[in-house]
Amino acid sequence: MIIWDLEWNRGYDRTPLDEILQIGAVRVAGLGGPVLDTFNAYIRPAVHKRFDPGARRLPGLQDSRSSDLDFIGAMERFRTWCGGETEFASWGSGDLDTLTRNCRYWGTPSLTMEKCYDLQTAFSYVLGADRQIALWRAVEHCQIPDLFPFHDALCDSLYTSVIGCWLTPESLEHEPVRRSRRAGPKVTLKLSGCPFPRQPRQGIGPFPTPELVLGAKQSRRPPCPVCGRKGSISQWRCAPAKTSGGPRQCFSIFSCPEHGRFLCRLVLAQLSDGSWRGRRSVPPIGPELIQEYTAAFQTGAVYECRGSGRKRRRARRPGPSSQARGPDASCRSAPDVVKCPE
Ligand SMILES: [Zn+2]
Repeated sequence: MIIWDLEWNRGYDRTPLDEILQIGAVRVAGLGGPVLDTFNAYIRPAVHKRFDPGARRLPGLQDSRSSDLDFIGAMERFRTWCGGETEFASWGSGDLDTLTRNCRYWGTPSLTMEKCYDLQTAFSYVLGADRQIALWRAVEHCQIPDLFPFHDALCDSLYTSVIGCWLTPESLEHEPVRRSRRAGPKVTLKLSGCPFPRQPRQGIGPFPTPELVLGAKQSRRPPCPVCGRKGSISQWRCAPAKTSGGPRQCFSIFSCPEHGRFLCRLVLAQLSDGSWRGRRSVPPIGPELIQEYTAAFQTGAVYECRGSGRKRRRARRPGPSSQARGPDASCRSAPDVVKCPE
């Protein structure tokens, strides 16, 4: 069995590709068995000019930037190393999607995987947890000494292989009720049902980069549209621009302890001098807005605001079982709009 992991950069420019920066893998004799061999390839980035905040924190980013290996070369080596292996496993299911997309982008064959187990889902099943567990939390839970850096594809593969000791064959076969990968993660808004007056738009910036607009304090503290109490935003979901170089819509949910959850929108636009400004609003909820939010949530880029999360979070995984999956995705069959508190 091969346990593998990827690190990637989610670019903010016009090419919607999560560009793979590292492929790491370990070959194990079987689930929980000894490690027989390791694979590691740092890949020189060639698609995006900028790195997203998650990529900037990768311990191996410099190794990727100075690597002689391009994606096609790295994939060739990886395919050769995998040999005829058909059984694979990874932490979460987002890596396979990303690998497929990168292979398609570069026109190089992907891997033939007869089976790719999602050990994150299996681990949640073993623990009876109703949500996916980040790798570092699983390592903590299993009291595995965290000797290696997280977010390094090889080290994460090693950690995942050790966690394999905690998994049962039954947990591997367990398939949670899940929408198809194509449909993306389930979105449940559970928004406040409180009526509120039309809200003024707030201009943000300009700043040199879109990331700085998203991370700006003014962007992240929208007021409750009912009482004005300031909310807090820790993560944005940014839809791709509808037209090349056009404005991008980013969404987030924030809460007022008294009036419930509200949808916040931030429209990013680039000015003629290359800088970026944002317009933040708390728009009235309609079907069209919910549709736009859903699309951004399912297919858009995730931007984690700095200093708002845990120390060692993974801020870059898309997909239905990923660590970046917001709390919005874990609630099932709840209504989009809930009753306003009295
Ligand atoms: Zn309020």
